[in-house]
Amino acid sequence: MNSELLENSTILIVDDNPDNLDVLFDFLSDEGFEILVATGGESALEKAEYALPDLILLDVMMPPGIDGFETCDRLKQNPITKDIPVIFMTALSDVEHKVKGLRSGAVDYITKPIQHEEVLVRVGIHLRLKNLLNLYNRQNLNLQAEVEDRVFAQSALQKLTTELEQRVQERTRELTKTLEALQKSQETLLVREQSLIHSAFHDALTELPNRFYFIERLTQVMAIAYDNPNYFYIVFFIDLERFRLVNDTFGNYIGDQLLKNVAHRAKSCLRDQDTIARLGGDDFMVLLETATNIGEALAIVEKIQAQLRLPFIIQGYEVITDSSVGITISTIGYERTEDILTDVDTAMYHAKAKGKGSYEIFVPSMKTQAKEKLQIEVDLKWAIANQKFVLFYQPIIDLSTNEIYGFEALIRLKNNANEIISPAKFIPIAEETGLIKEIGWWVIETACEQICQWQKFFDVKLMMTINLSAIQLRQINLVKRLEHILNHFSLSKSLVKLEITESCLIDAASPELKVLKQLKNLGIKLCIDDFGTGYSSLSCLHEFPIDTLKIDKSFVNRIGKITGDTEVVQTIITLAHRLGMDVVAEGIETVMQLRLLKNLGCELGQGYLFAKPLPVDEATKFVETWRSQKILNI
Ligand code: C2E
Ligand code: MG
Ligand code: MG
Repeated sequence: MNSELLENSTILIVDDNPDNLDVLFDFLSDEGFEILVATGGESALEKAEYALPDLILLDVMMPPGIDGFETCDRLKQNPITKDIPVIFMTALSDVEHKVKGLRSGAVDYITKPIQHEEVLVRVGIHLRLKNLLNLYNRQNLNLQAEVEDRVFAQSALQKLTTELEQRVQERTRELTKTLEALQKSQETLLVREQSLIHSAFHDALTELPNRFYFIERLTQVMAIAYDNPNYFYIVFFIDLERFRLVNDTFGNYIGDQLLKNVAHRAKSCLRDQDTIARLGGDDFMVLLETATNIGEALAIVEKIQAQLRLPFIIQGYEVITDSSVGITISTIGYERTEDILTDVDTAMYHAKAKGKGSYEIFVPSMKTQAKEKLQIEVDLKWAIANQKFVLFYQPIIDLSTNEIYGFEALIRLKNNANEIISPAKFIPIAEETGLIKEIGWWVIETACEQICQWQKFFDVKLMMTINLSAIQLRQINLVKRLEHILNHFSLSKSLVKLEITESCLIDAASPELKVLKQLKNLGIKLCIDDFGTGYSSLSCLHEFPIDTLKIDKSFVNRIGKITGDTEVVQTIITLAHRLGMDVVAEGIETVMQLRLLKNLGCELGQGYLFAKPLPVDEATKFVETWRSQKILNI
């Protein structure tokens, strides 16, 4: 062997001549080749496929089997053996054989008789070539595998990248969504927080700052004024006149709209630096920082009051209100906000007492009166606990017969010091606190019991007129409980007349109408008290089951004094008669008033001219005296 490259190479020698085989076998074995032999074409094909030699030396003529050409052909057609180099062994003169052999796929030929050197050279060349080819193929294969691997890796990478990108996109989308949702919920939270803060410091109805806000600002301003004694501010408290009446008359919705309109009008008179707040109900508080002196401040107060005096048109109703304003000034040198609030409140009550549409600046002497109101509240609660109410009875006279028609029951309160307190003072507070319901039932029971006793005592039928406030009229159990009381005293229902205020009669759709009809069905009589001072709607007066109109004493009082006032009374009487109602005139104090009223056809009269409201024993005496003497027969 002359080259390491050929070491262990296997050569298949195919020849039908055993001598040739021997020669070649020996010689090539000596050269270090592995030798296989076959004596015919068929066995050569088998061995080649089985042993896969590195080279085949193939004889051409091998009778009787297939010849070398066919053997070569079939070797080349078999994919297993097709790459094994085949060298034909042929005679020197057989050019035709050589060409045919090369065409059938052989790589070379060796001329017979065999020359060892030639065999070695040709075998060596082709084994090297084959090895090189193998090497090349292997490398090529490796390269191809590497390329495929890379392509695979690349496509896998690509797939992975695409997948990753998709996942990233999906995740990004999810994250964006989550982020958006988070942002939204943060925004919602922020809005909610802001709205919570806003509603904590603002009044929901008017959108004005509320009490907390006002106190906060007032505290800040007081601190500024503390460090800077020249800092001037005033605080004023606006209370609407007749707001309760508006609420009772037109209902809460119109009341609310009025408050909104009031807030708007008052605010429009102020500058941005000033603060107007609604403290609740119809109470508005203003902190005025932009006025430099009291004159300027009062001009603003007057401007607001003038604005509030103008009628408000709400849902087609013309609502008229007025305001009382209590003012206090920083020069008093306040150190506590509550002192300011108390003082403006006190000043406001003074303004109220002075008359509609007034304002008052606080002075320390006012505190006594504020205490009085507080005292009434205390007295009221004490009187309820200790049953210290009494009923006074004021006679009502039938002006045509001069007989006693009946009495109006008027409540009084006896305080701890045994002083009698007027209902004008405590009834509004009893209404404010709701205590009127409890007091009202006591009045009804006491008055019914009294009329029952008089009936037994005098054997005469007297009418008992009982005042009923709007709050009482709205009690669910009113009709039933009233019926129960009347039955309890076996009292004829037609001897009880309830006096209600005009505010209960605003329109035919009001729930009070139903209650009034039920009362009427029971047989109870109904009267409108203080007629002409409230808001009753004349257009639907006829729809209410009213028996009597009571002309307010302010009209009676002016009879004969001011020209034209008799006409008002006359108009009321005519209206009542047209609607089938009778008329009571209250507050008759003079004979002239009595005569005039009689002439105008007024059926009933009540007033100091006959008698003041009397305690029960005096009222009893009054009946006795009147019946025997008929004191006033004019
Ligand atoms: P009112 O129902 O209009 O009663 C008439 C008021 O006029 C009474 O005042 C009476 O004393 C007064 N008065 C009667 N005649 C004259 C007169 O000739 N001249 C003058 N100047 N006044 C006269 P009073 O008793 O102080 O009652 C005030 C108001 O308190 C009553 O007005 C009524 O609205 C209310 N009130 C009284 N008692 C009750 C009650 O039991 N329940 C309810 N809800 N309100 C009551
Ligand atoms: Mg009355
Ligand atoms: Mg009256």
